Amino acid sequence: MVDGGNGDGDGTRVVRAGLPEEEPYAPPLPGPVLAAHYHLPGDPPPESFGPGRDPRGVPYTYGRDNNPTWTGLERAIGELEAPGDETARTTVFASGMAAISAVLLSRTKPGDVVVLPSDGYNLLIPMRERLEGYGVEVRTAPTGGDAQLEALDGATLLWIESPSNPGLDVCDIRRLADAAHERGALVAVDNTLATPLGQRPLELGADYAVASGTKALTGHGDVLLGYVTCRDEELAASVRLWRKTVGAIPGPVEAWLAHRSLATLELRTARQASNALAVAEALRERPEVSDVRHPGLPDDPAHEVAARQMRRFGCVVSFTLPDKGFAERFLAALRLVGEATSFGGVRSTAERRGRWGGDAVPEGFVRMSVGVEDAADLIADLRTALDVAGRG
Ligand SMILES: *Cc1c(COP(=O)(O)O)cnc(C)c1O
Repeated sequence: MVDGGNGDGDGTRVVRAGLPEEEPYAPPLPGPVLAAHYHLPGDPPPESFGPGRDPRGVPYTYGRDNNPTWTGLERAIGELEAPGDETARTTVFASGMAAISAVLLSRTKPGDVVVLPSDGYNLLIPMRERLEGYGVEVRTAPTGGDAQLEALDGATLLWIESPSNPGLDVCDIRRLADAAHERGALVAVDNTLATPLGQRPLELGADYAVASGTKALTGHGDVLLGYVTCRDEELAASVRLWRKTVGAIPGPVEAWLAHRSLATLELRTARQASNALAVAEALRERPEVSDVRHPGLPDDPAHEVAARQMRRFGCVVSFTLPDKGFAERFLAALRLVGEATSFGGVRSTAERRGRWGGDAVPEGFVRMSVGVEDAADLIADLRTALDVAGRG
C-alpha cells in the first residue's frame, strides 16, 4: 500500500495506531475503562488539553472531561489523520453530528459568515436554521466545480464535504482552503466518506478534519461515534471545552469498539473500494441504470480532482433507476444487500434516498454502500434484482 507518511504502510499503521507502550503481562489494547470519576486527592491538576498542555488531554478527573479509553482512540485517529504530526489533537464525540456541532457552534458568533455545501449531509439544513437563529449569516453553494469559492468574501468559516453525501461530488480542498485562508476564514472538512486512509484534510490545508466514525471508520454498523482533529491548540481546546459543556461524550465501550475496529480499517477500505469500483462498472452495463457515480470510475466527473487528493475512493456508489416503483422492487429483490440507511459497513446496504425527502435527488436515486463480500456474488445479486424489478 501507499506509504503512510511516516515510512510504514497503511496496513501496518492501523494495527498499531494508538496502542500504549508494550508492558509485560498487559493487554495490547486495554479494555474499556468504566469510570464516572477518578481518585483525585488535593487540588485538581490544571485543565488538560489547553494551550501548552499535553495534547492527549490527560490527567483524568471526571468522566465527562476525559477517559483513558478515549485517549487511546484519540491518539489512534490523530496518527491516521496526521501521520508523524505530534501536534495533532483529536477529540472524540458521541456521534458525527456531535462533532460537527462542536466545530460549527463553538466557533461562530453573531455577525459571522459561514459557507456550507448545498448538497452536504442532510442535517446541515437544520444546522443552517439554528446558525441563522443565532445571528450568523449562512451561504450555501454546491460541492462540484469548487462553487463555494464564489461565496467566500467576508466568510469566517468554510465547511467542505468532499466527496459529498449522497451525490458523490468532489471539490479541490487545497484550492478552497487557500482561498478561504486568504480571507481569514477557518476551514473544516467532513471526512466521513473517505476515512483518514482515503483522504487527509489537514495535509490539504484544512484547520479541522471532522467525521462521523459511525460509518466506514468503524465499519460494523454497531457504534455511533464522531471526532474532530486539528493542530491549533486553541481551536482544539475550544472543541474540547464544547464537548465538556454540552456533554456529547462517547461511552467507553463504544470508544473501545471503535479502537478495536481500526485494526481492520486498511483491509476493509481496500476491499470496499475495489468492490465498489467493480459494482459501479457492472451497473453501468445495464440500460435501466443511469447516472452511475463513484469517484474511482476513471471517467466520473469527480475523478480527476479525487485522484489528486484522495488515496482511496470509498465504498459508496450512487445510481438512478427509472422510477420509485422500480427502485423499491429492486431493493426488495436483493439477497445480499440490506435495505438500510448509513454506509461504510462490512455488509452491503442500499436505500432509495428520496424516501427521506431531504436530498435533492430523483425518486429512483439509490445510494449503495458496498461491503466486503465477494464482488462476483454482489454483482450477480444486483443483476438478478434488476431483472426482477424490470418484470414489474
Ligand atoms: C452520517 C454522516 C454524518 C453524521 O454522523 P452521525 O454519526 O450519524 O451523527 C455527518 N456527515 C456525513 C457525511 C455523514 O455521512
